[in-house]
Amino acid sequence: MNKELLALLVPKTQSLEKSSGSNDSITPEDINLILSYSHLSKEEYLFLLMKFVSADSYKESFFKKIKEDYELEDEEILDKIVNLAIIECCEPRCVFCGGTGTIITVNTAVKCPHCTDGVFNFTDEVRGSLLGMKHIVYKKHEDFFMRVKERIENIEISSLSKIGDI
Ligand SMILES: [Zn+2]
Repeated sequence: MNKELLALLVPKTQSLEKSSGSNDSITPEDINLILSYSHLSKEEYLFLLMKFVSADSYKESFFKKIKEDYELEDEEILDKIVNLAIIECCEPRCVFCGGTGTIITVNTAVKCPHCTDGVFNFTDEVRGSLLGMKHIVYKKHEDFFMRVKERIENIEISSLSKIGDI
């Protein structure tokens, strides 16, 4: 857990030093205490942990929580759709340019064609290939995908507003 995250999560009136001996030894209990002030729902809580604490276990928990509410005949497709929706909401940084928006070679610096200012362009074609679907198959699932994504975006907005980020 880094200090920037802590600054985000700790209510403005709280002192960090009181919760532990050093800023670098924040425990999960500290985080729980902070988050418990914020009246977060279970999914908002898991979302914040997933987004700000880099540990795969939190992503797994959030993934399971979201998946619980949906049903698809093909579970593998459901897994892929929920996973992609999470990636679009939480990890939209372009991998081609490292999130800089510019591809630099020895002699040139050109605008990265895969993103807008470092945020990856998730087009229908890109989504289809990430989901391992032909375009026509993706189109059949598009409405469902958009619903899942919108749900996660709403969780992000409500959880951040509860901890005072926006
Ligand atoms: Zn890029």
